[in-house]
Amino acid sequence: MTSAAERLQTITGRIERAGARFGPPPQRVSLVAVSKTFPADAIVPFLEAGQRVFGENRVQEAEAKWPELRASYDGIELHLIGPLQTNKARDAVALFDVIETLDRDKLAAVLKAEMERAGKRPKLFVQVNIGLEPQKAGIAPGEAVVFVERCRAVHGLAIEGLMAIPPDGLPPGPYFAQLALLGREAGVRSLSMGMSGDFETAIAMGATHVRVGSALFGHRG
Ligand SMILES: *Cc1c(COP(=O)(O)O)cnc(C)c1O
Repeated sequence: MTSAAERLQTITGRIERAGARFGPPPQRVSLVAVSKTFPADAIVPFLEAGQRVFGENRVQEAEAKWPELRASYDGIELHLIGPLQTNKARDAVALFDVIETLDRDKLAAVLKAEMERAGKRPKLFVQVNIGLEPQKAGIAPGEAVVFVERCRAVHGLAIEGLMAIPPDGLPPGPYFAQLALLGREAGVRSLSMGMSGDFETAIAMGATHVRVGSALFGHRG
């Protein structure tokens, strides 16, 4: 079993090589270490090794783990990468630095109100259901650009980027390329795409954030 520091170094090296090979210089890709389902003691070795950007998919699970970790480590950037119910929006705004799963008007309105109330502005990504899969969250690709414009003009929200999870079992490249195209059309600066199995392909297509779980933490039980 390799150590957390070794796994982190391996993935960081692969990101750097993919960026150097494909990225428009000086592209920097942020590694979001997806720690969902893993307890705080499995996360600590990554913090000790210097990793600071993490992703969680459930508000309640994140609330149970992260306040204590934040008290011990400076500079943590926590991303919400799972679906957000409006009744959890207040907690999400309080806890997360980045919310990657904005995908509907109701949520945009509630997030805006909670951000004003808290005086805190997590960065927002719009999630796109890039494979139009019924079981996945996200706005349809055909509506994504207009939704980003509505977030800005109607809801008064700044949109940092787009996020997507391509369908399982199909080559992800075309989906990443489509997300990049939508990102250019919408005029956003960041693209969160690519996971353990395909992050180098995502970087080749312009990812600015890759969300890597199992390649760092091992398989989820
Ligand atoms: C779990 C998860 C990941 C990480 O997946 P791995 O294949 O373990 O790297 C990335 N993005 C989202 C939205 C996830 O839910």
